[in-house]
Amino acid sequence: MNSDQFATRAIHVGQAPDAATGAVVVPIYQTSTYAQSDVGEHKGYDYSRTANPTRAALEECLASLEEGKFGLAFSSGMGAITTLMFLLKKGDHVVVCDDVYGGTFRLFRRVLEDFGLEFSFVDMTNPEATARAVRVNTRMLWIETPTNPLIKVVDIAAIAQIAKKAGAWTVVDNTFVSPYLQKPLTLGADIVMHSTTKYLGGHSDVIGGAVVTADKEIFERLKFLQNAAGAVPGPLDCWLVLRGIKTLALRMERHSENALTIAQMLEKNFAVERVFYPGLKSHPQYEIARRQMGASGGMLSFIARGGAESARRIARATRLFTLGESLGGVESLIEVPAAMTHMSVAGSPLEVSPALVRLSVGIEHADDLRADLEQAFAQS
Ligand SMILES: *Cc1c(COP(=O)(O)O)cnc(C)c1O
Repeated sequence: MNSDQFATRAIHVGQAPDAATGAVVVPIYQTSTYAQSDVGEHKGYDYSRTANPTRAALEECLASLEEGKFGLAFSSGMGAITTLMFLLKKGDHVVVCDDVYGGTFRLFRRVLEDFGLEFSFVDMTNPEATARAVRVNTRMLWIETPTNPLIKVVDIAAIAQIAKKAGAWTVVDNTFVSPYLQKPLTLGADIVMHSTTKYLGGHSDVIGGAVVTADKEIFERLKFLQNAAGAVPGPLDCWLVLRGIKTLALRMERHSENALTIAQMLEKNFAVERVFYPGLKSHPQYEIARRQMGASGGMLSFIARGGAESARRIARATRLFTLGESLGGVESLIEVPAAMTHMSVAGSPLEVSPALVRLSVGIEHADDLRADLEQAFAQS
């Protein structure tokens, strides 16, 4: 399948009708092992930690959507990140964007530092500060954009240039917008990773992770590490992500439209002190976002003028927006990061305002979402 069109590739790459039966949908190959025709002779599949046909279909599709050459699927986003960090060794240094996902921060700070890896957290919206954080032993620059929960936008091309000069890899966590809206490999990144739990899966029914690269050497090392460390997804989980991906293009359009509508509405609300959304002209990196992203995505956050209590009251009062963690599903979610997703960063440089409310805007009708927020504000 060789179309230029993203929406077509999402449905067809790696997903040709099944050769044995003609099944239009990639079967769930729920098997751990495979019969061999002779000792050591098989069709590329000998054990499902190493390779599985349902997983292979997902990996091929992901590689295509990110404009890479090689995809690898993992049991979770954190499984993908953990495996990626096995590319490094004791004494290596990583520059990380300071507003990084809480679980990533926790893994780096509270697990991997004990294994002799070094991490510096910097504001990557400032390329000069990022360049200054690079050391002789820097092997990797870790970007997340837009960031969570402050929705800052990092200029991927600018940071990738700094990394190249330093002989370090650029890794982009592309979870927040998906490859439909942003393709880091085309902007100079070496590796893209995803929590497929979010937009790629898209239906809040599966945990998964992925890595894509166009570099054969990096891929071969990672393929070895995927099998050696074993954080692989089961075939049913791969199938759920593949199924989600089929509608990714449609969903991301609607997520972005709805979020822009909500962001504009919140910006006019006197109970809101500040709205963080890259589709708003008031966003500090509005121009970079326009250049780097196809649309602005479904994630936004805002500071409630009434402080922490007001933020909690709003989050409790919505009826359509479900109070909960995670993001990227068809249904809208609301949360207070300081008390929920970002509890583990309290007391660290990543600590966020208790008055911050984060929305994962779903694909319901925009009028219903607006009405729900209006009634929640009226109550609080
Ligand atoms: C959720 C998330 C992760 C971790 O992924 P899991 O699938 O929950 O392990 C990593 N990065 C970002 C940006 C995320 O939102």
